[in-house]
Amino acid sequence: MNAPIKRPLKQHIEHNHPAAPERSVFDHREFKGHEQVVFGHDRESGLLTIIAIHDTRLGPALGGCRMWDYATTGEAVTDALRLSRGMTYKNALAGLDLGGGKAVIIGDPRHDKTAGLLAAFGEQVERLAGRYITAEDVGISAEDMEIVASETRHARGTRATGLGDPSPYTALGVFVGIKAAVAHRFGSDKLNGRTISLQGLGHVGMILARMLHDAGARLIVSDIHQPSVERAVAEFGAATIEAGKAHKAEADVFAPCALGAGLNDVTIPAIKAPIVAGAANNQLAEDRHGQMLKDRGILYAPDYAINAGGVISIAVAKPGGGEMAVRDKVMAIGQTLSHIFERAAALDLPTHVVADQIAEERLASAGR
Ligand code: NAD
Repeated sequence: MNAPIKRPLKQHIEHNHPAAPERSVFDHREFKGHEQVVFGHDRESGLLTIIAIHDTRLGPALGGCRMWDYATTGEAVTDALRLSRGMTYKNALAGLDLGGGKAVIIGDPRHDKTAGLLAAFGEQVERLAGRYITAEDVGISAEDMEIVASETRHARGTRATGLGDPSPYTALGVFVGIKAAVAHRFGSDKLNGRTISLQGLGHVGMILARMLHDAGARLIVSDIHQPSVERAVAEFGAATIEAGKAHKAEADVFAPCALGAGLNDVTIPAIKAPIVAGAANNQLAEDRHGQMLKDRGILYAPDYAINAGGVISIAVAKPGGGEMAVRDKVMAIGQTLSHIFERAAALDLPTHVVADQIAEERLASAGR
């Protein structure tokens, strides 16, 4: 499964005969009960895509399409399998009647992405007859999704089907999630006078910063992009901290809103805040880091529970609106997290384990 992918893609398919895979997809460590994995190719455009449908017990599998310059086919398979399973859990925990899936397109989005390739991907999605619903992800923009949608009825987050950029809804979910964590830890959800260390002032982080500021919180901000830091200082009177040191800030909440794997052997011992609650995906470098946070007495809001606002906006929005229904469902993220925190405390378990349990219970009940 580690055959290197050489460019250009079309020639790769026509002239290369990759070595036999090291092991079958069925034996892959991330396979874990996938229902269907489709390998798609289009001769004209050179499209190479893998669409992984993990679980459709709750409904059609919804998950974005990622375009990435994977070094090997094996890497692309691993990503598709891992991300699609993650979507099953995320959609189940968010209370959506949707399963989990994910598509990856192999190629460099800056050089290999053409209208023909996107249209060919749309055809592949259409062939699955609604079992998989696609949306944008890393390397695929809203404009790209419009081209995909010209070939399939099963694309979301487009002008015809959505509310546009999901980031404001992700930020709203993280905001109510932080309030739920603060309530659990301090007995009141008031943010007035609380200090939040916010790492990453991008699409989600900047909107979250404004919400927190408006609710009376003090902000300590960090970003590798200096103009964003300067903007937060000017608009919210935020204090600043070096980008790599946000977890060390004296704060009530550390909110990672930049990259994944930020909770690891190096950072966890240095975290000063009693709460970690932010938008970033895959915050725990490894599963065991959830236990490590618990051992340090740090309350962790599982990433896929707190950052579900974006997928909720994509799933619930209807052509021409549906904003109120989306907001109601996003606000419910606060209750879901309170439930996770209470059950984790009662069972003396890490919060990420309890989040998985709740998602699995919902999946099991749908299967009956
Ligand atoms: P973004 O790319 O707009 O913003 C990320 C920000 O983090 C940028 O400003 C970048 O300069 C900054 N950054 C990068 N490395 C940093 C570092 N080491 N320290 C401090 N700052 C750093 O991304 P986004 O859309 O705001 O998403 C943020 C996170 O939330 C990502 O992990 C994303 O996967 C996750 N997420 C986003 C959404 C959404 O709706 N946008 C939904 C779910 C999860």
